[in-house]
Amino acid sequence: MPAANIGPELQRLIDLLAKLPGLGPRSAKRAALHLLKKRDPVMRPLAFALADAADKVKACSTCGNWDSIDPCAICAEASRDQSILCVVQDVGDLWALERAGAHKGRYHVLGGLLSPLDGIGPNDLNLGSLIERASAPAVSEIVLALPATVDGQTTAHYVTDQLIAANVSVTRLSQGVPVGGELDYLDEGTLAAAMKTRRPA
Ligand code: ZN
Repeated sequence: MPAANIGPELQRLIDLLAKLPGLGPRSAKRAALHLLKKRDPVMRPLAFALADAADKVKACSTCGNWDSIDPCAICAEASRDQSILCVVQDVGDLWALERAGAHKGRYHVLGGLLSPLDGIGPNDLNLGSLIERASAPAVSEIVLALPATVDGQTTAHYVTDQLIAANVSVTRLSQGVPVGGELDYLDEGTLAAAMKTRRPA
């Protein structure tokens, strides 16, 4: 509920901040006040960074990772193992695996999970290009690093079925990923162990 004594510019800022994950209306107000107080060290550089990222950061046309170059830095890195593709829900999970140093191959970002309840079907995900990439002769293993949630497991089953024709071994993370667990929240040791002890899907 907008308060009458907050000007339209400030109210718009608060409303937009409140759309960020983890920020409700109250914390959005706190963030707006903080930005106004730190106008030169934070607010103006942030405004520039937002506009710059909006212009330059795009999804890699090969793997779906966010980067300002295409193919992304990970796809372009020649020393990466070309035989293993790690399938993740989103770029946050790719970052978590990179942080853990858990995967030396390349990635494929689905851009979400199958969720019949939310009306998210196979065509809403980056699946066609995964099957194409998995069928390349250089690729021998697909690791499904998907969350241990209902949607994550539904997606893992679906992707496994779709990959039968690609003639690759399909594995998934094992120990340490708790039921209902989102990868992004796991500590690095747990994530690295789950990758090391992956098992056939
Ligand atoms: Zn890429």
